[in-house]
Amino acid sequence: MSLFWNIYTSNSEDFNLAIHTAQTHFQQIVNMRAWSERHHGVYVPITKSMQPNSYLVDPLRDVTTTNGTKLTKIDSAYMTRQVAEITDANSEGVKIHLTSLKPIRPKNKPLEWEKKALELFEQNSRMLEFGEFHKESQKDLFRYIAPLFVKTRCLKCHVNQGYKVGDIRGGISVTLPFSKANKLPLWIGHGIIFIIGIIILWIAGTFIKSNSNRLKSTVNTLKEVQTQKNNFIVSLNHELRTPLTSIMGFTELLESVDCRCSEDEKSSYLLQIKHSSYHLLKLINELLDISKIETGSIAIRCQIIDLEKIISEALEMMKTQFIKKGLSITTTLNSTSLQVCADEKRVTQVFLNLLSNAYKFTPAGGKINIQVMAQGNLYLKILISDTGIGINEDQQDKIFEKFHQVNLKRDEALGGIGIGLALTKKIVTLQGGDIGVDSKLKKGSTFWFTLPITCK
Ligand code: ADP
Repeated sequence: MSLFWNIYTSNSEDFNLAIHTAQTHFQQIVNMRAWSERHHGVYVPITKSMQPNSYLVDPLRDVTTTNGTKLTKIDSAYMTRQVAEITDANSEGVKIHLTSLKPIRPKNKPLEWEKKALELFEQNSRMLEFGEFHKESQKDLFRYIAPLFVKTRCLKCHVNQGYKVGDIRGGISVTLPFSKANKLPLWIGHGIIFIIGIIILWIAGTFIKSNSNRLKSTVNTLKEVQTQKNNFIVSLNHELRTPLTSIMGFTELLESVDCRCSEDEKSSYLLQIKHSSYHLLKLINELLDISKIETGSIAIRCQIIDLEKIISEALEMMKTQFIKKGLSITTTLNSTSLQVCADEKRVTQVFLNLLSNAYKFTPAGGKINIQVMAQGNLYLKILISDTGIGINEDQQDKIFEKFHQVNLKRDEALGGIGIGLALTKKIVTLQGGDIGVDSKLKKGSTFWFTLPITCK
């Protein structure tokens, strides 16, 4: 838009400059003619180059002074002609032409464009000048013409042609060499501004887009966190209520006077109370651990420990449950040394977490295997595989996030609040190891973690 406006104003400026220049030339001639007319012509000496005007009908055209000098009268038309000839010879390319639709002198016959302009002046009395750009033989020109009106004194020579005062007698045309201002810098300038504008828009667009994407992803994360928080509260409520209800129920039963329970029944109730209490304690400890890890106040004391001892103790703790559910468990120890640098209590916690998940998510009759192997020279890799329900590929990273449960209803029913794996991952990484899972839906899962062999 601005480019077209600038081109338009530049064209107008070109036209104004050209027409003013032409008007100046025209006005000079008109002034000279007025001066000449005021003096009814002027006498000049007759020379070789200054011959009498053959078109001037005047008995006093040529006179001789008392000292014998021959003079001839120059009227305004003859003067115009001569000025035009001098201009032609002196000015570079400027041409002045006295012309008329009814010329007396053949050379005053109008050119085609002059004829059209003179005709327009006659048709439209309000049109007092005409100017236009023109190209001729590769040259840029501006041509201008304005009319000359018949005055009383003109009738002396022109009355025979039928003119009256006020008629258009003819005109004087001025042709100038005139190159319009070069528009290339305008195009280049606007081109550069356009490109810079596009770049700025592009940068701003990218910036806004990336910010809005970041904002969207933050909003989504916040929504997800909110959902997880709600789920967590529901799960926690359930997880705390279940063992507490069991503890209260069995305690009230044992206390009741109506309880005619056998000794075996009493010890079975006490065992239930003990299990529920342990479960509650584990849950509370996990919550405390998670918050300790978040505040950075968890203490990890690494030293060389023997994995074989930890594995057998963990298996011993869970053996009864495995047998009860009909799960078979095997160990494959593929490393000559089973020593690692870790915190014994925390490694036991990791084993128990992974084993209890394998127990929870493997249906009766399934198989669980614990394998230990070297990973390079620096680490031992511990793998706990099951033939359980497996985990969908898109969930495999998420399960290590706090409060994430794959299937809320199912996982809640099986017991758990979705912090076990998040805690396990933190504990493993705090000891300098790594953790991951390979799993196939309905085929089973292999959770693995690594621990360094030596202490730094
Ligand atoms: P939870 O205490 O609820 O079990 P975890 O953090 O230990 O929480 O596990 C997160 C989720 O990962 C579980 O809810 C379950 O969906 C999935 N998961 C963990 N271990 C297994 C496994 N061995 N087989 C299948 N799914 C598992």
